[in-house]
Amino acid sequence: MTATGSWPSPEQARRRDELAAALAATRARVGAAARAAGRDPETVTIIAVTKNWPAQDVRILASLGVADVGENRDQEAAEKAALCADLALTWHFVGQLQTNKAKSVVGYADVVHSVDRVRLVDALSHAAQSCGRTVGCLVQVSLDGDSGRGGAAPVDVPALADRIATGAGLRLLGVMGVAPLGQSDDPAEATGAVRAANAEDVAERAFARLAELAAIVRVGHPGAGWISAGMSGDLELAIAHGATHVRVGSAILGQRRDLR
Ligand SMILES: *Cc1c(COP(=O)(O)O)cnc(C)c1O
Repeated sequence: MTATGSWPSPEQARRRDELAAALAATRARVGAAARAAGRDPETVTIIAVTKNWPAQDVRILASLGVADVGENRDQEAAEKAALCADLALTWHFVGQLQTNKAKSVVGYADVVHSVDRVRLVDALSHAAQSCGRTVGCLVQVSLDGDSGRGGAAPVDVPALADRIATGAGLRLLGVMGVAPLGQSDDPAEATGAVRAANAEDVAERAFARLAELAAIVRVGHPGAGWISAGMSGDLELAIAHGATHVRVGSAILGQRRDLR
């Protein structure tokens, strides 16, 4: 509340309208994709990825019924979570995570989507125990054979799942994946339509592989039913392959030029 002017300001009201429209459109996409896959739309949770956007946007989204928010950098997430501590939100950490940040992340995150190595499992377990918290964990799977964007090799996923399941202070929830970009190096294929078709193909195979790994994990851990997959550009494909949680940034919040 400011001493001068009305609240909400015209600018805040405009942002609210913008977010409400984008959120409604995203919910419609998720609903349509779920129905097309013969699934109940209620089985898909939208996580609004608010990285690079201010805490005020998180507040607006909360007022529009968003209960799940995602962030990918510890410092920014910690600040925003503190500013929004009065809201009943579930905070998802979806970015690559260094072990020395485990303690901080466990302070605000309810779920960490990017658990991809034993050392990180142990650091999170240690941190969770010292805070007296239980943190949900997903095994992030590398779907492009390139660990540049994080993720465990598929062959290592079952052992990591077991380690999380037995880790004090941790709760194994399922698996997470980011579809590869799928761009062709072949200049002859580098035209829009062909490239888009390739990317879709690559993403399709990646989500199918993730679903297989999720099923393998569920054999030993029937309660670990989450599949975190799909973003603004590919959520329909992910939902067709069983995604239970889609992580949506730009389709809800918009595009920013200063993306880091
Ligand atoms: C930023 C981000 C998203 C959201 O991406 P959009 O394409 O903006 O929807 C999802 N997952 C992860 C891990 C991210 O870092």
